[in-house]
This record gives sequence, structure tokens and C-alpha cells, in this order.
Amino acid sequence: MYTEKSQSLFERAGHCIPGGVNSPVRAFKSVGGTPLFIKKAKGAYLYDADNNAYIDYIASWGPMILGHAHGPVIEAIREKALESTSYGAPTELEIDMAELIQDMAPNVDLVRMVSSGTEACMSALRLARGYTGRNKFIKFEGCYHGHADAFLVKAGSGLATLDIQTVPGITGGVSQDTLTCPYNDLAAVEGLLEAHRGEIAAIIIEPVAGNMGCILPAPGYLESLRHLCIREGIVLIFDEVMTGFRLSAGGAQQTLGVDADLVTFGKVIGGGLPVGAFGGKKEIMKHIAPLGNVYQAGTLSGNPIAMIAGYTTLKILQDNPDIYHELETKTLYLRDGLRHACRQSGTPAVVNQLGSMISLHFSEQPVTNFSSAAASRNDLFNRFFHAMLRRGIYLPPSAFESWFLNNALTREDLDRTIGAATESLLEIGAGN
Ligand SMILES: *Cc1c(COP(=O)(O)O)cnc(C)c1O
Repeated sequence: MYTEKSQSLFERAGHCIPGGVNSPVRAFKSVGGTPLFIKKAKGAYLYDADNNAYIDYIASWGPMILGHAHGPVIEAIREKALESTSYGAPTELEIDMAELIQDMAPNVDLVRMVSSGTEACMSALRLARGYTGRNKFIKFEGCYHGHADAFLVKAGSGLATLDIQTVPGITGGVSQDTLTCPYNDLAAVEGLLEAHRGEIAAIIIEPVAGNMGCILPAPGYLESLRHLCIREGIVLIFDEVMTGFRLSAGGAQQTLGVDADLVTFGKVIGGGLPVGAFGGKKEIMKHIAPLGNVYQAGTLSGNPIAMIAGYTTLKILQDNPDIYHELETKTLYLRDGLRHACRQSGTPAVVNQLGSMISLHFSEQPVTNFSSAAASRNDLFNRFFHAMLRRGIYLPPSAFESWFLNNALTREDLDRTIGAATESLLEIGAGN
């Protein structure tokens, strides 16, 4: 496999873009080597600058749930673009989008569109603070809620990948209001509530975590958080940027049967364009400007091209609920294949999975929170990553990321992936 063009592009990028990339994990820093520059993608396949083909398990970190360059989505974008790409004034399409989200996602009385998951989480937190008149909030170690200042404390994902402990540029004043505790640990949450009674505006959580690999909530955990929030007058925010419209049409709230007060969206909601949203109960959402005084705005919020890409994607998902079943069936097949490959090569491994989210940790212990994810043999993952890449399988370049399946994947693609995993595990001598 030749990657000369990617290598020379990376070299060129280094002279004009910090680290050669516009988002850190793309740089392959933890797995090592040169990132591939992608030229195009179709269905389940990515093509790099040297024309190598890869089966894609990133799906742009989630959005490409239907596969790349999905016909109806591309057609809708093309048509919409002819009518101009932005107005900065309201359009009917924004109402269609909001109504569709109301229909699909539980507990969304009102929804505001933004341009990224970061903006969605940042705005939801500001709203929870404005609504409750409290400053502090609880987040969980290893959960990522975008790169707004308040969230960059024990934030999993890219920070964990690059081993960044504290982030220069975040003031002590900001981080003192961010309380953290381990995922799936209820006593730790109760301890924080006790120590900061009446000061906590919100608990924000990835209902299924995807930024320390894929980690499931322990049975009853989210329900317990729900009860604690009601008891303490705290806003429960589900960060569904990964899970929304992916685990099911109604996201984790629907799949797991737990209600949030506010929900944030990103990734799938934009169908591959820059879109985020936050929404929730009217009682809280009515505090957002211009209804209320909690300010939030965006020049390109509700942008027509972004809206049509998102709307078309969501509508396809709503009209074809079988897609979720198909995705899950494929993911279970992959899960079983990976587990088998690991057993065969004598490699201790944990494959966590829910719906079309899945990840592989080289661990002998269950992986249920950030410390167990970090205690896995991530050196082994890095070698596995490259062994897979050489075989044309494009996994997220970090053990701290969930893989995302897209529905263009065929049984043949999955078999190739499992075959590649079997070979890769043997090649890296993982069982020894
Ligand atoms: C990706 C992600 C975000 C941030 O979204 P961006 O669009 O990258 O700003 C927030 N929360 C979760 C759970 C995410 O996975």
C-alpha cells in the first residue's frame, strides 16, 4: 500500500495548519504514522489521495449513518444550493427541521439549531445555569462535550488520546465550577450533591459514552441520575451528540427509556454538514433569547444547506425504521466476529457495543469507566490500528473513540473486517 501522496500532503499541511490538521485526533499522534488524506468517499468506502480504498468505521465520527454520498442527501443539497446558500433570515425549512426533531426525539418541546455539538452543549449548560441561577455542574470523567472551556476537564477522547491533563487557557475560575466524577459511579455523584447542595445547575452525561471507547451505562444508573436531579432541582442534560438519531430515531432517551430535561445533538443531525441543536422542556427552553434573557445566537444557525442535509437524513431514518434494526444486526455480527477473533488468538479483549456503536479494548477487566478504559493495553490497540489500516480497514485512530457503523456496510465488508482483525491480532502477536 503506497501512501506517498498523503505523506507529502501532510508535510505541506504542516507549514500552514497547526499539526497539519483541523481537529487533533486526525493527526494520528497516538497511533503514530502519517494521517491519510481523503479524496472522496462513497457508501462504506473511503478513498485516500493515493487511491487506496478503506472500509470506513468512523463515518465522519458518526454523521454518515446512511453511508457516504448517499444519493437523496446529495441531490437535496445540490438542489438547495441553487437557491443561495445562506440568508440570515428565517426559512420554512427550519420549521420543518424543528418539527421533525420534535417528532423523533422525546422531551423536545422547543429546539434551537446551532452549527456544532460544541455549541449545543455550551448553550445547554448556559441555559441550565440561567434557568437555575446556579453555577456548578457535574460531568463524568472521560465524557466529551465539545471544546467549550467549562467542559475541558477530564474530557476523554482527543484529550485522553494526546494525554492532555490540564488545558492551558482555561482559567481557574471556570474550572472550579466543573465537578467531575467517574462514569457509572452513583455514590460519587451523591457525594458531590451533598458537598455542593443548592449550587449545582446541571448534570451532563453521554447516556452511552463514546469518547473513551464505547461504554454503556450500568443498569439503573441513568434512572438514578434522573431521580437525583428531580430531588435536587438540577437540570439533567443528555449529550446525545453521538447517540441522537443513531441508537434509534429517539436516541438514547428512547432506547434506554430515560427522560432528560435538555438534550444536545450534533453529528447525525447534520447528515455530514456542520449542525448541532439543543432542545428540551418548554419550561426551561423558554429562557432562551428572544423568549428569555439567556443569550445564544449564530450567523449560520439554521443554514439552509446544513438544514436540508440534516432534514433529508433524519427523514430517511424516520421513514425507514428498519435501518436501525439492520445497523444493529450488522454491529452484533461484527461484535461476535471480533470476540471470536480475539479468543482465537488468545487476546484478552472487551468488545462493548450498543446499537451501531462499538469499540474494542485490549483489557482483561470489564471496561465501564475512564480508568478501566485507560488501563487497557492501548499500545496494543495502536499496533492493531495500523495492522487493520494496512488491510484496508479504517478504524478511529485512538482506543478512546467509539467506532460507528454505517448502513452501506455489507455482510461481505464485515467478513473482510473480521478476517483482517484475525490476521492483525496474529501479526501483532497480541496473544503472547
Ligand atoms: C463530538 C461530540 C461533541 C462535540 O461536537 P462537535 O460538533 O465536534 O463540536 C459533543 N459531545 C459529544 C458526546 C460528542 O461526541
